[in-house]
Amino acid sequence: SIVVEEDAPEDLEPRAPIVTVMGHVDHGKTSLLDYIREENVIAGESGGITQHIGAYAVTLDNGQKISFLDTPGHEAFTAMRARGAQVTDIAIIVIAADDDIMPQTKEAISHAQAAGVPIVFAINKVDKPTANPDKIKEGLAQMNLLVEDWGGKIQSHDISAKTGQGVKELLEKVLLEAELLELKANPNKLASGTVVEAFLDKGKGYVSTILVQAGSLNIGDYVLAGTTSGKVKAMQDERGKNVTKVGPSQPISILGLDGAPQAGDKFHVLQDEREAKQIAARRSQLQREQSVRTQRH
Ligand code: GDP
Repeated sequence: SIVVEEDAPEDLEPRAPIVTVMGHVDHGKTSLLDYIREENVIAGESGGITQHIGAYAVTLDNGQKISFLDTPGHEAFTAMRARGAQVTDIAIIVIAADDDIMPQTKEAISHAQAAGVPIVFAINKVDKPTANPDKIKEGLAQMNLLVEDWGGKIQSHDISAKTGQGVKELLEKVLLEAELLELKANPNKLASGTVVEAFLDKGKGYVSTILVQAGSLNIGDYVLAGTTSGKVKAMQDERGKNVTKVGPSQPISILGLDGAPQAGDKFHVLQDEREAKQIAARRSQLQREQSVRTQRH
């Protein structure tokens, strides 16, 4: 069965923050995620991040890590929340400094606030001659969102996702915010977490990217994820490197599930493979019955 144990305080260890990038269309979410992904080359590792697996982790110069959900936009955020998944610790909300505070910006702000997720504003496109970051901050102040420059507590940083200006400082502010949250997890138990994305690969079979949120996942573990289950045959990180064990806050692609779970599905490691299969089968059955019922109505 799925056992959810309370962790003793001494079992908890610090974990990296998990960050989602949100904002209005064309304000630079994808550019920012791409810049961070491409620029981050871990010391001693030859390549940058080569795989698009729906999430990636970066290591800053000071050795601290940040995990990013690599699916820009709040659709992913709300879809996951609708499924009861709370994976985001901090939201970066990108606002183009040559535009206004737009409807989707406001929506992103309310989503983050409703989820109780702290916001760090990235005032983007400051390389443009028409950029006016002060106008954006004034607009935020009018919405009762006082950023630091305006004497408030909300972190914000002027950046250019195109030239990279300010991105490092933005990430440092994300880490400051993360420190206040004192994020912790117990790495020494069976893994659980959330599915970020999954697809069928012609050569590899079902590939599922998951975020481990508690415990550690090992090759050979039996995983139950939504209506799917299976034994973890291989794990690959965002650099295409094979790994045998991953801990809390780490995104990882796994091979071995017998289907594609949905984004936002929870996953658990079970001790018993047969039980994992039975629960997955029962869930599929329930889902089929439910869809028959909704079709009739
Ligand atoms: P998204 O819809 O929020 O993901 O926005 P994109 O990242 O796709 O960016 C929209 C457009 O703005 C693209 O043409 C980008 O090249 C451009 N863009 C994004 N960030 C910057 C920036 O910092 N400076 C400039 N000059 N252009 C940018």
